[in-house]
Amino acid sequence: MQYDTAVIGAGLAGLHTARLLSLRGLRVVLIDRKRSLADGIHTTGIFVRKTWEDFPLPEEQLGRPIRDVTLYSPARRPMHLTAARDEFRIGRMSWIYLYLLEQCARTGVHFMPNTRFVEARERSILVHRGTRCEEIGVRYVVGADGARSRVARAYGLDVNRELLTGIEDVVPGRAAKPELRCYLDPRLAPGYIAWIADDGDEAHIGVAGYRERFDPLSALARFRNSIGEASAHRIERRGGLIPVGGMLRRIANERALLIGDACGSVSPLTAGGLDPAIRLSSFAADVVAAWLDTGDRDALRQYSGDLFRARFVSRSWMRRIIRTIESPMLMELACACLRMMPGIAAHVFFARGSVLGPVDRGRLVRTFVRTS
Ligand SMILES: Cc1cc2nc3c(=O)[nH]c(=O)nc-3n(C[C@H](O)[C@H](O)[C@H](O)COP(=O)(O)OP(=O)(O)OC[C@H]3O[C@@H](n4cnc5c(N)ncnc54)[C@H](O)[C@@H]3O)c2cc1C
Repeated sequence: MQYDTAVIGAGLAGLHTARLLSLRGLRVVLIDRKRSLADGIHTTGIFVRKTWEDFPLPEEQLGRPIRDVTLYSPARRPMHLTAARDEFRIGRMSWIYLYLLEQCARTGVHFMPNTRFVEARERSILVHRGTRCEEIGVRYVVGADGARSRVARAYGLDVNRELLTGIEDVVPGRAAKPELRCYLDPRLAPGYIAWIADDGDEAHIGVAGYRERFDPLSALARFRNSIGEASAHRIERRGGLIPVGGMLRRIANERALLIGDACGSVSPLTAGGLDPAIRLSSFAADVVAAWLDTGDRDALRQYSGDLFRARFVSRSWMRRIIRTIESPMLMELACACLRMMPGIAAHVFFARGSVLGPVDRGRLVRTFVRTS
């Protein structure tokens, strides 16, 4: 079977883009190395308000809304923030992925689970399907295969260089009032935070930081111990890499383009990647459809990381500052300053702006996409 597009990776970015491409009339194959999308979840799944406002996520698979956030310094001095509106909801990610897969199936996307992208060929790709090696004919490839994208390397596109490692345990939730607690402590989470996100039904206890500066497993154990959660029953363990170097520049060429973590569309400050993963999909689908329809390179040129990098500048600077804070004393001082300027912390947690900002899809659609 010959396909117009192969989408490699059925995470949030791949699922969303595959459906949109199929709705545009393209023959789409969606490929993932997992046997089931419900397995091996690596994300906490905290969605921000703008995502559930702008995109149709299944309401019943989003946990109770969170308005209360507490930031703790290394000495565990708290700073409470309460939002005027619901700001965060923890997604039940297995169900959300299966829901989106079902949506893909309805539009005619062909799903190939347990299939690993291995190599790029001239007008085809090589995959390992179970124990077999197969060649699949495709006109274009979308790399949605995460932080360490093999597609990016196979097609000579940019790759993520700055990565955090995150690990968390999911335990039964206990909070009467849903809450998010963030711990700024370079001993536990060098370069990022430790967290508890508890919506009453499930609680996620995790740590993330620069790989070379900590041992994630022992940091998680110490963190759980320090908050009196050492013996809480673990339902699930999750973990993975988070690209925080900002949007990559060269993210598209004549044969492939990247979306989601593969192109670094993650906030360097908050490490949130779910919103940008969905938000970029519509633009990516327009670009792929336009390129396959018209063969005009201008469509591809518009899909450049430079278009978005301005939105990453201040966040990248803040990341550089956070990266340099290795001493708990310095972090204590930074937290003291933050307590004097609660507006800054409230802005980081509650502002509605997206790391991707608005994309002028109108121009692209008007210029290239055939209207039926
Ligand atoms: C511990 C942790 C907690 C996080 N918490 C949050 C959070 O609460 N909120 C938030 O906004 N962001 C969070 N993030 C970031 C967020 O999870 C990601 O930005 C987002 O999931 C990226 O989606 P994606 O579709 O680009 O990639 P992924 O979800 O990584 O999907 C990639 C898919 O590609 C498949 N794949 C990879 N290689 C191949 C291959 N060679 N062949 C076939 N398939 C392949 C994988 O199996 C996977 O299904 C967190 C990240 C981590 C690690």
